[in-house]
Amino acid sequence: MSETIFTKIINKEIPADVVYEDELCLAFRDINPQAPVHILIIPKKAMPQLNDAGEADEGLLGHLMLAANKVAAREGVADGFRLVLNNGAAAGQEVFHMHFHLLAGRSFTWPPG
Ligand code: 5GP
Repeated sequence: MSETIFTKIINKEIPADVVYEDELCLAFRDINPQAPVHILIIPKKAMPQLNDAGEADEGLLGHLMLAANKVAAREGVADGFRLVLNNGAAAGQEVFHMHFHLLAGRSFTWPPG
């Protein structure tokens, strides 16, 4: 796959406001926040989109969601946050390095736009 801006963030080639990091993932504030808390949670392993994940990624995907819980707790929003994953351009994905958006700090409507 071609390198994205998120690979450069993982490799510390460009700066990001990192709020959590472990051996498998990185979480940092979105540059264009859509809520008072808007954090991106990305695997260090590059996969363009969720649809590219295979059976071997089962543990990694669970790890990312547990990381989201940790980030939410650190941000003081564990009681209410939205976790969003855009899979593919048709769903609004713009950066093709799979990531979750953790959004919190305001009320949300359903269905999402
Ligand atoms: P997508 O639309 O692919 O689901 O979400 C990509 C997100 O990455 C967007 O919310 C966008 O604001 C964010 N983003 C794009 N480039 C950068 C960057 O260089 N730094 C940070 N922190 N966020 C970025």
